[in-house]
Amino acid sequence: MSELEFILFDLDNTLYPRDCGLFDHVDHLINRYLEEVVKIPSAEVDQRRRDYWQAHGTTLNGLMLHHGVDPHHYLGFVHDVPLADYLEPDEKLVAMIAELPGQKYIFSNASNEHCQRVLDYLGLSHLFSAVYDINYFDFRPKPELAIYQELLGDIDSRAEDGMMIDDMAVNLAPAASMGMATVLYGPILENPPTLPPKGRNLSCLHQLPQLINDLIS
Ligand SMILES: [Mg+2]
Repeated sequence: MSELEFILFDLDNTLYPRDCGLFDHVDHLINRYLEEVVKIPSAEVDQRRRDYWQAHGTTLNGLMLHHGVDPHHYLGFVHDVPLADYLEPDEKLVAMIAELPGQKYIFSNASNEHCQRVLDYLGLSHLFSAVYDINYFDFRPKPELAIYQELLGDIDSRAEDGMMIDDMAVNLAPAASMGMATVLYGPILENPPTLPPKGRNLSCLHQLPQLINDLIS
């Protein structure tokens, strides 16, 4: 790779660290939605989420299919998180991302509203050319290969010219299969998944510029 044309950033647990607790709050609200709105007995909620996730890619898709849930209502409910309790604007992060080469995009399984709120809170909104959220793809989530292809078509780019960063290896697999460079962000595991040829691990977001330098030199 001699030049990086674009970078796809996951948002949750990528632009902020998992251990800040924000996503645990979202997770808790998903459980509450199943209990309080869909009226699933609390003892069955965990298993139902696992079943829907496995069968339909997201809890939301299972709820839409089996319970006629309005996706906008669900997404509004589960993302109603007091960001100030979990996030801190980070000037160094803003400066780091501003210096990265290529166009930057958000590629998230969350709603556009949630992505925009988090980006605004972190002072990052102006650095991203577009947000590809779950609404954009008619609620089809990562890791569905078709939405990666649609995204590339929309930005008029080739997979080989770009990079994707995400905290979940499963979401990076389609990107890697298409020829994108991939960055798995998060603590380095004791038994890390096997990385694809242009795949890297990253434990600290601020090491991203160095990683990109290594990749394109
Ligand atoms: Mg994530």
